[in-house]
Amino acid sequence: MKKTIFLSLVTLSLITNVYGNEAKTPAQIMQDALIKIEAIASTVSIDNNLSDINRTEANISNKVDDTFTLGKYGTFKFEKANDNVYIMHGPVVSPNKENQGFMNNPAVIESEHGLIVIDPGGNYNVGKKILAEIEKVSKKPIIAVLNTHKHGDHWFANKAIVEKYPKVDIYAHPNMIKVSQEGEAEIWYGILSRTTGNLEGTKAFAFPTKILKDAQKIEIDGQNFVIQHPPVAHTDTDILVAHMNSMTLFLGDNLMKGRLGSFDESSSILGNIELLENIKKETAFKLYVPGHGKSGKKDETIDMFLNYLKVLAEDGKKAYEDDKESYEVKDEIMKKLPWMNDWDAFAKNMPSHLNKVMQEIGEKELLEEDE
Ligand SMILES: [Zn+2]
Repeated sequence: MKKTIFLSLVTLSLITNVYGNEAKTPAQIMQDALIKIEAIASTVSIDNNLSDINRTEANISNKVDDTFTLGKYGTFKFEKANDNVYIMHGPVVSPNKENQGFMNNPAVIESEHGLIVIDPGGNYNVGKKILAEIEKVSKKPIIAVLNTHKHGDHWFANKAIVEKYPKVDIYAHPNMIKVSQEGEAEIWYGILSRTTGNLEGTKAFAFPTKILKDAQKIEIDGQNFVIQHPPVAHTDTDILVAHMNSMTLFLGDNLMKGRLGSFDESSSILGNIELLENIKKETAFKLYVPGHGKSGKKDETIDMFLNYLKVLAEDGKKAYEDDKESYEVKDEIMKKLPWMNDWDAFAKNMPSHLNKVMQEIGEKELLEEDE
């Protein structure tokens, strides 16, 4: 508006000026006036270009400002991993203050009309940042969320998604929903609050509302999924999600790479081994996505973790049969696992994993004796 008024004033003063010059013919006067008007107009358009440039610079600096950065862990964004599949690989470490409780692998699957999110992250605040990164992939609405299991580092960020999309469907195995509501969510809230100090806004929990069972097939806006629920592996609440359109398998924490988590009382190391061996033998997906650590082809993602668990089980069995305690054999076993040395929490968690698998072996042998 201002610009139009300014231009009209300039035009008016020019025309007044030229008409004041009586030595020129009307055609010359008009010609002069046109040249001057064009000159002024081009100055104005240069100004426009400059303000466009300024605006672009403002955009660029905005982009730098809203990058998802976590101190020494660097910056995080979704990267295309397969057809219509985007994954943000979180820091491969335990939850802590510097990573703000973000250390899993949220994934986005783009359908024709919306987005499907798997395991959005570990708290409300991180969830808002992940939501902003999702919007850089696509502005389509989030139409569904899938949670792989009960551990809060994978699903507490549901809260940020529900805040923006109150009607979104959130899916999980019925065991996950039950134990989370009956106290597991509170336990994880305590763990993550102590380790990250970043749980503000996470309550009231955004629990999943829809259930997925073993062998269930589900289609969401043209995207086809097949669900597997192992009775007991990483926990007894897990689903593995096969995205058939892209041939991607999301294993949740039944697979880790570069970091060891803990096996709690609801888990089975022997069950986890059996599951991974079956997947290795029987599946041919293009992409395998662990709960923590880099995605990739079958062998490069599964072998290290599976071999680690198998060494624990085999040597643990031997120790059990020799009537030895886990602390007596752990140093020897650790030496057999050189490929695990640079994994986060290896030295810390390996002894308790060994202890756990020896317990399972003991229980199994007692059961077999009873039969
Ligand atoms: Zn877990």
